[in-house]
Amino acid sequence: MKSFDKSRQLFAEARQIFPGGVNSPVRAFKAVGGEPLFIERGEEAYLYDVDGNRYLDFVGSWGPMILGHAHPAVVASIVEAAKEGTSFGAPSRRETELGKAIRAAMPHLEMMRFVSSGTEAVMSALRLARAYTGREKIIKFEGGYHGHSDGLLSKSGSGLATLGIPESPGVPAAFAAETLTAAYNDLDSVEALFDRYPGQVAAVILEPVAANMGVVTPEPGFLEGLRELTRERGALLIFDEVITGFRVKRGGAVEKFGIVPDLTTMGKIIGGGLPVGAYGGRKEIMQLIAPSGPVYQAGTLSGNPLAMAAGLATLNELEKPGIYAALEDNAAALAYGISAAARKSGLSLQVNRIGSLMTVFFTSQEVTDYACAKTSDTEAFRIFHRTLLENGIYWPPSQFEAAFVSTALSHADVETTITAIEKAFAAVK
Ligand code: PLP
Repeated sequence: MKSFDKSRQLFAEARQIFPGGVNSPVRAFKAVGGEPLFIERGEEAYLYDVDGNRYLDFVGSWGPMILGHAHPAVVASIVEAAKEGTSFGAPSRRETELGKAIRAAMPHLEMMRFVSSGTEAVMSALRLARAYTGREKIIKFEGGYHGHSDGLLSKSGSGLATLGIPESPGVPAAFAAETLTAAYNDLDSVEALFDRYPGQVAAVILEPVAANMGVVTPEPGFLEGLRELTRERGALLIFDEVITGFRVKRGGAVEKFGIVPDLTTMGKIIGGGLPVGAYGGRKEIMQLIAPSGPVYQAGTLSGNPLAMAAGLATLNELEKPGIYAALEDNAAALAYGISAAARKSGLSLQVNRIGSLMTVFFTSQEVTDYACAKTSDTEAFRIFHRTLLENGIYWPPSQFEAAFVSTALSHADVETTITAIEKAFAAVK
């Protein structure tokens, strides 16, 4: 049995200072009935906790760490930038360099703006969509998560799904009323909302691959249908690629599925593990942003040189030939091993995967939307998670989150993980 004594002690102290002992809810391990580990350091595919335990990491800081931890090129780039100063509140060259690197992979971001989180990116993109269309309502999907701004917390995934919070108190009813929710992979539910609120919907926003209700992929025709419907009804289509950007492909979901939205929001990987977000899209729309237009949005640390440096080094590494193919191979081998282990242990479950994103749902039902995801046996998941932790695997502490595979994961690590997963399935049985 591993010792978690030091983590326990630190968590007890942290609870005196932070609500629930953490600075972001899912970190508290509440859904898996345990206490969080305090991480001392990360190196490549591994995390080390304060008790000296080592784990293969499948959380990857919830997405940014696609190269694994403390990648030498990323660290060197941050150090070099830090030596020149950490923030200027003025334009600096790395902003344009990172902007160009993003646009090279995602040409549909004709113009963009950097912010400091995914939440900010989405909030700003929606303001812009409302200004551009002169309409106020937006459509999001049940189980989709787009950050914690007012108006985006209804029927959301991620931590809200994990903690069973359908709506957050503190969101004014008037704001919530502007958010309409449809069912993922269900075009009819979107069309019905357009019919019910004619001329009032500014935008449809979605994770093109849902990753915050666990991983749920778009069914053939879904993204195409949304593209047609939004065009027909004069609303903008916004892809929230905070997770999928540079993850499912270098060019994100747009490269993967070939559907081009009007606006895109980004975060995570483009900041290489430092706080970053971005939103961008058609020039004609983006030019409405101040100071070239009247739509106001600003940020003290926007385009922060350290974050730009980390993002640039990360995107640079991701340009190396074969990197996404290797990621795909490893993730596919892991998913295959998980399915085989489940069959061997007689468990009926779903492994949803796209590239290096995956979720093991403890349900016999195919998971195509949030309602299906919620049929999962969360008690089985809790046992699965706990057994994995005991066996050196740091899996996301929630049924409704994606597991992230990094380029640092080796074939041997995949084998180690499958062995631990076999034990976890035996414990679940
Ligand atoms: N959008 C998506 C799809 C996300 O997964 C997240 C965070 O997990 C966000 C937006 C919010 O990003 P941040 O946590 O950086 O504010």
